[in-house]
Amino acid sequence: MHIFYRVLTLTLLTASLLSAQVVPTPNASAADSKIEEMLKTISPDSAISFDRTLAGFGTRHTMSDTTSSTRGIGAARRWLYSKFESFAKDDPDFKVYEDRFLLQDVPFIPKPTTLMNVYGVLWGKEGVNGRYIVISGHYDSRCTNLLNDTSDAPGADDDGSGVSLVLEAARAFTSTHFKPDANIIFICFPGEEEGLYGSNQFAGEARKKGMDIIADLNNDIVGSIRGGNGEVVSNMVRVFSQGYQELKLGKREVNADMIGYSNDSPSRELARYIHTAGEKFLPMFHTTLIFRQDRFLRGGDHASFNKYGYAAVRFTEPNEDYHHQHQDVRTVKEMVRGKEKEVVYGDLPQFVDSAYVASVTRMNSLAAALLSISPPAPSNDVMLVDKLEYGSRFRWDNPSRGKGLAGWKIYYRKTYEPFWTGYVFVDDSPDPVVNYDLKTMTKDDYIFGIAAVGTNGVESIPEAPLPAR
Ligand SMILES: [Zn+2]
Repeated sequence: MHIFYRVLTLTLLTASLLSAQVVPTPNASAADSKIEEMLKTISPDSAISFDRTLAGFGTRHTMSDTTSSTRGIGAARRWLYSKFESFAKDDPDFKVYEDRFLLQDVPFIPKPTTLMNVYGVLWGKEGVNGRYIVISGHYDSRCTNLLNDTSDAPGADDDGSGVSLVLEAARAFTSTHFKPDANIIFICFPGEEEGLYGSNQFAGEARKKGMDIIADLNNDIVGSIRGGNGEVVSNMVRVFSQGYQELKLGKREVNADMIGYSNDSPSRELARYIHTAGEKFLPMFHTTLIFRQDRFLRGGDHASFNKYGYAAVRFTEPNEDYHHQHQDVRTVKEMVRGKEKEVVYGDLPQFVDSAYVASVTRMNSLAAALLSISPPAPSNDVMLVDKLEYGSRFRWDNPSRGKGLAGWKIYYRKTYEPFWTGYVFVDDSPDPVVNYDLKTMTKDDYIFGIAAVGTNGVESIPEAPLPAR
């Protein structure tokens, strides 16, 4: 089986018209087996031990103690740094970083506070000017009162689970000597609860430096399988993605509604990519795509990446339990369905499921691995709308001119459908600009997405080509 191929359902009409054009991509067993080796290394025991250590710092409140070696956010960030350093011993391409910045006179941070983003970068062949993939979580925690920086706030699920995932993914990539083309950043943010401060700092600096971040995979509350609604789901994670954002940044400014692209923002194409990859490589564990940026009344660090024009998604468990989020640790006698019961409040490690954290870690690591060895997405891809006609014409730049790609896939789906339902394969070409005329399908009735396909069979994220005359 070649990599990242999904059985695509063609409608009867298009199947009869297009079957001659559908060509499978080349075999990619070498890439497949390297990814599978890395995924197998991901361990529930390792992930849960990270989570217990994080919860053991008592509180990781953004303004909590920084001098103690056992309690508070200072101890937690020094431990995170040391974990990343231990992974760096396994892989000389993995480097550890901390970015410090001072916050003053900002909402919910009433005293001058130095925050620190702690991260490791697995440097790929593309180097500093190449593409980046980010796997993120936030290491700060909170109790009931957002300003209380001393009481216990173990934050085992929110977001010890996401940070444990970041660490476990970094451990898996480095210990199996996975060699990406694009760079992979494994990052832990502080200041999320007060206002996404760590991620805002990082994504803002990245935008200033012109970093080509192709995806942020943000993980926030990815540890529990049991919801406060009584539901238990262990084989699914929700993936939230924003539609076209109000703030127009980056190259793809578009009136998305007018051209029917509301569901084809870079973040939603990324979400589909993750879903398709998961169904192929991790068929026992599923993603449910939620086409909104986040849950009501909530936010997360992926929003900072969106704000600066980057594709980003949020992973969150299917059923949350609000007794175990943003709550002081306490046991209270309450009437539950007519009976007095002892109800435990607080974000405690016993409510985090080790196998579940490992499953979500695999989904993240799979997506990051594929993206890191994928070819760059097509550049300057457009759909030509200069005249009335019955087909659809596309054009994109081809800087490699017949060297380095297997070709491209033009994915399609009806405008009301959530997932791509088929594709047309276009062979690589020596031409500097590729023109493709898809005579059998009208652009009025379909959404298209163009992906580059590498000689290793791995694909870029499809991009919906903007209309051009
Ligand atoms: Zn959170």
